[in-house]
Amino acid sequence: MNRPQWPAWPPPPTDEQRRALLRVLDSGRWGATDGTETRDFAAAFAARVGAAHGVCTVNGTVALFLALRALGVGPGDEVIVPAYTFVASATAVVLAGAVPVAADVREDTLHLDPEAVRRLVGPRTKAVMPVHLAGAPADTEALRGLGPAVVEDAAQAHGAARHGRPAGSLGDAACFSFQSSKAMTAGEGGIVVTDDRRTYERLWALHNVGRSPDGGWYEHPELGWNLRMTEFQAALLHPQLALLDDGIDHRAACAGALAAALGEVRGLALVPPPPGTTRHTWHLAMLRYDPRAFGGHPKSAFLKAMAAEGVPLDPGYRSLTRVPYVGDAAPCPVAEAAEDTVVWVRQALLMADEAAMGAVARAALSVQRAFTR
Ligand SMILES: *Cc1c(COP(=O)(O)O)cnc(C)c1O
Repeated sequence: MNRPQWPAWPPPPTDEQRRALLRVLDSGRWGATDGTETRDFAAAFAARVGAAHGVCTVNGTVALFLALRALGVGPGDEVIVPAYTFVASATAVVLAGAVPVAADVREDTLHLDPEAVRRLVGPRTKAVMPVHLAGAPADTEALRGLGPAVVEDAAQAHGAARHGRPAGSLGDAACFSFQSSKAMTAGEGGIVVTDDRRTYERLWALHNVGRSPDGGWYEHPELGWNLRMTEFQAALLHPQLALLDDGIDHRAACAGALAAALGEVRGLALVPPPPGTTRHTWHLAMLRYDPRAFGGHPKSAFLKAMAAEGVPLDPGYRSLTRVPYVGDAAPCPVAEAAEDTVVWVRQALLMADEAAMGAVARAALSVQRAFTR
């Protein structure tokens, strides 16, 4: 059997990206306080995700920190985060001086369970952070009525939509990452978007050393830090906006082919997105692995055997309840069980072609035969 070829991520740079980088290089205006690239990209990205304002920053973790601070989260507060997410959802809360509290996720979708959140909301709960896991928006409507501010962790969901509304317009603020693995990337980078003018002004001051837009360079009426993006990053990112939808369509077609091909494989199936998802960006395809269909072999053995077949899958997250600084106000059995039963097909693999998705299923069948012999 021919081994599938997996594309590299990020994809090769376009001529437009090369020209944009050289334009910044030659301009001598490399920082966002000198040039206009960052400002223009922030406005264009915010518009693309249905928000009025955007503030570019150094990475997605810091974007979450800025959003929390801008919404008034600080020491003594709690922020509810899903137990099945990247650790940065929680470390951003710690950075803001607050305590992250893990809520369990839904068995079917692995997304934050609004019922679990409802049980955890208390007098200290200042915000809830739904994560648009794998590129499918979380159920934000169920969270918006609860009281605490809603900060979307949209680090994986550039271009996603729920009931036709873009991720980025589903909460009080939304944060995206441009780290190397994400659908839009400058190696590192992040952005916070919001519709609220006052939140935007706070974000702007917080990421720009506490300055105000019309104040002096050495006037710092608010507490703030230098968390600005460079002009190089913005120049590299801006042309990617026009390519975003093509990438999503490509991965969606591959995910469809993968789902169909896995129909032949007992004990391995796609985890469905939350109902109401109208645009899934397929940052990842999460698969449910049932060891019983694979001779009782644990996930780790399955991953090793798949890699030997030329299909490098990913083990995915460990539950945040394993992290010592995350508050364990309630048990999170679903997130913990996912450690043994969920594997990921990463974005780069989903940028291959539909034939390669058939190869994933064939590799799984061959592993299954070996494991059940
Ligand atoms: C990538 C990611 C982050 C952090 O973004 P960085 O740019 O790496 O700091 C936060 N949350 C989730 C869900 C992510 O996938």
